[in-house]
Amino acid sequence: MKANEKAVLLEINKEAAKYFYTLLRSPRGEMASKYFEKRQLSPETMRKFGLGYSDQYSDDLYRYLKQKGYDDEILRQSGLITIKESKGVYDRFWNRAMFPIMDAHNKVIGFGGRVMGDGEPKYLNSPETKVFDKGRNLYGLNFARASRREYLLLCEGYMDVISLHQAGFDNAVASLGTALTSGHASLLKRYTKAVYLTYDSDGAGVKAALRAIPILNEVGITTKVINMKPYKDPDEFIKNLGAEEYEKRIQQAENSFMFEIRILQDNFDLNDPDGKTKFFQEVAKKLLGFSEELERNNYIEAVAKKYHISYEDLRKMVVNMAIKLG
Ligand code: ATP
Ligand code: MN
Ligand code: MN
Ligand code: MN
Repeated sequence: MKANEKAVLLEINKEAAKYFYTLLRSPRGEMASKYFEKRQLSPETMRKFGLGYSDQYSDDLYRYLKQKGYDDEILRQSGLITIKESKGVYDRFWNRAMFPIMDAHNKVIGFGGRVMGDGEPKYLNSPETKVFDKGRNLYGLNFARASRREYLLLCEGYMDVISLHQAGFDNAVASLGTALTSGHASLLKRYTKAVYLTYDSDGAGVKAALRAIPILNEVGITTKVINMKPYKDPDEFIKNLGAEEYEKRIQQAENSFMFEIRILQDNFDLNDPDGKTKFFQEVAKKLLGFSEELERNNYIEAVAKKYHISYEDLRKMVVNMAIKLG
């Protein structure tokens, strides 16, 4: 690949971001302005995140970029313009509230666009391009990397990141509409030793957390889980209860192992002796994952205490499980 090609793609993204940004602040961007206002974003927050608006005319951005001198081939590669022999040329983003996505070095690498109101898809993202690798970038990291907090907050959505930063949590990041990958984990590891998951409180959010925990642990990141209930996500939590309550939830965040077994527990009937035995057998298996004895014993102690069983019984169960599994 030509090194220059990447530079040109980044330049095109920057031009597009400026275009969307300017349009939002023009009369044509009034609807989008109102939308962001309704979501309680301050002008300062909107500026910081470079928020914008993509026009209702279907080839507006295309004409703008052509006039700047970019040819069809590179515009197609940018993912911003779709060019089809049969259907002609049209912009990917059309009448959406626009979120430029920056890498850790403040370069615009892609975009997320939200419908204003209901409609599908709710968020449309740039496709992967030569400069946009969704598995190796995180939204908000360009700001969060400068945070003085010694952990990062990992959430699901763009709006969560923006709301958290606006509320003073300048350490929030999100993956880009994809599940967390080991590429994300390695990236996070460069900036922090600890990650607090602040995913949505629905079933999908719990599932996503269960998948993310081992990926983070794999690279040596300590993980905790923040409870957003009774609200859906950090954005809604903060709007309803405010930053102070969110800070309390951070302080109360649950150890990720204790979170995993609390979720595991739902599959067993602890009032039934067999159910209870099976549950603790599963827990014993998971406890074997701690290779250091002191660490393992600390967890045995925590589990025994939480579930009101004897430390010795649980420790023996773990030892027997180790023998059984060889
Ligand atoms: P909002 O608060 O604006 O409704 P959200 O962030 O709460 O948005 P979720 O439905 O929880 O929305 O989705 C979380 C994230 O997943 C979004 O921020 C976006 O990055 C991604 N996402 C959501 N819907 C889609 C979609 N249809 N296609 C691709 N990515 C999506
Ligand atoms: Mn969700
Ligand atoms: Mn939301
Ligand atoms: Mn959400």
